[in-house]
Amino acid sequence: MHHLFDGRRRINGMRIEFDRDTCIGMFQCTAEWDAFERDEDDGKADLADSEETEEDIFVREVPDGEELDAKFAARSCPVDAIVVYDDDGEQIIP
Ligand code: SF4
Repeated sequence: MHHLFDGRRRINGMRIEFDRDTCIGMFQCTAEWDAFERDEDDGKADLADSEETEEDIFVREVPDGEELDAKFAARSCPVDAIVVYDDDGEQIIP
């Protein structure tokens, strides 16, 4: 469920943040969660349906039922380009 707050979408569930600048295109994450897609041209992953909140920082909510996949994707990243926050906003990975 989404609420509008101060004109910005509020995320209530698990949240994932992808630092595309840090990403070195090893693509382990794409094998874990299909929200991560290969961009072979850039040598970077893309996070589908995300919002770029700062330059090269992409954020989205993790849908119900995809939490484990999202966490595995974050754990698989060798350069910690993927950060996962729980629904209280606490960083849980890495
Ligand atoms: S595992 Fe990390 S470095 Fe590899 S593509 Fe995914 S985000 Fe980028």
